Amino acid sequence: MSISAPVTGTPADTEAAPDAVISLRGLSVDFPVGGLFSRTVVRALRSVDLDLERGEILALVGESGSGKSTIARCIARLERPTAGQIVVDGVDVLRSEPRRASREFRSKVQMIFQDPFGSLNPAHRVGQFLERAAKLHGRATDPGQLRELVENLMATVDLPVDMLDSRAFELSGGQRQRVSIARALAMDPEVILADEPTSMLDVSVRIGVLNLMRRLRDERGISMLFITHDLASARYVADRTTVMFAGELVESGVSTALMARPAHPYTQLLLSAVPDPLRAGSYDPVERARLRAAVLDSPTCPYDGDPDQVCSRTEPVRHDVGPAADRHWVRCHLYRPAADVASRALAVDTVDG
Ligand code: ADP
Ligand code: MG
Repeated sequence: MSISAPVTGTPADTEAAPDAVISLRGLSVDFPVGGLFSRTVVRALRSVDLDLERGEILALVGESGSGKSTIARCIARLERPTAGQIVVDGVDVLRSEPRRASREFRSKVQMIFQDPFGSLNPAHRVGQFLERAAKLHGRATDPGQLRELVENLMATVDLPVDMLDSRAFELSGGQRQRVSIARALAMDPEVILADEPTSMLDVSVRIGVLNLMRRLRDERGISMLFITHDLASARYVADRTTVMFAGELVESGVSTALMARPAHPYTQLLLSAVPDPLRAGSYDPVERARLRAAVLDSPTCPYDGDPDQVCSRTEPVRHDVGPAADRHWVRCHLYRPAADVASRALAVDTVDG
């Protein structure tokens, strides 16, 4: 993608934000595909700038394949970026001394997954998982302390203490996710990266886990990156929401503001699938199917208003949307600051220029 000098809009910050616990700058990940000597790559992330602020819950939304997990995996250092910076608590972790960084990291940043016990022995007891994590972190020195710590963790995630003797396979999905959150808490983290933690849960159970996440933020000040493809969950739990499309961040803002006035056609598409009494009539299944096909077929933005393909020639700049308090911006050539965004909705064909 060629990039011409932006003439309008808000340039992305180049320095880590002072109030951010994690700042990503220009984070790019290319995955080689097609064998050893192939030069073909999948551009999973394209120069992502993202700030997770201290004590906030930030939702990262986008459909499957948009690059959400790759962001979390880079922050958790399970993936090495092709380019860019990851700054945690002011430390550029890719450049700092590896052993020190990884030791500090392991406890500071904890990740929870969609299927928490997917990679663990289902026959192990809950108590074993939690004690092991607490021991690893060195938080308890004698058995009595360890027991007390583990019991406190169970209370924190609203599970009965006698469940410490249960085996993983005996638990429900919601209980497993609470255990995995307890295990993360055993490390006393500053940040939790939660990758689709509620996607496999029924709605009523899901709300319980989302409430738990919010309580952990409120009571312990833990910052959370909440990855989901479910905008209703994002709106419910996250202070801010950022939308990813094809490896790029296309829109971001205070969750309520972003979802009330989505400015990017892709955000509008995602929202069109969310039942919302306030947006009655917004769901047009035929238009959604057409746009969804266009999105999935396109390596870049399909909304660039043919025949010009302006997005493939010029990187869209950031535009602020609405009042500053909404912290709402969009990167889209179709955005017209004066236009009534809601009425433009999905009518891409009618936009001129
Ligand atoms: P999401 O979590 O939003 O579903 P991912 O971050 O998992 O998206 O993937 C982003 C893109 O990178 C996808 O096109 C995916 O196929 C590709 N990808 C992810 N991991 C790898 C890998 N290890 N090798 C090759 N391609 C990958
Ligand atoms: Mg994923």
